[in-house]
Amino acid sequence: MTTQQPIANVRLQTRVGLCPTCGQVGTFTFLGEQRWPPRVVAATGLGPVVHLWQCNQCQTTLTETASETQD
Ligand SMILES: [Zn+2]
Repeated sequence: MTTQQPIANVRLQTRVGLCPTCGQVGTFTFLGEQRWPPRVVAATGLGPVVHLWQCNQCQTTLTETASETQD
């Protein structure tokens, strides 16, 4: 067994998709999720959980509601 540098134990989630900002199909890095209070959900029509993705080409942060991904 060789000694190896421990890999950073960070679960970076990525996915491939079309970026509406730069118009390129590329990879997105999952930044995290935001949870809205019920009052905001009712007012905006957004889902209770919004996922944040960052385009690896233009570095734009995109929001996507959980309800969109379920369908
Ligand atoms: Zn982009």
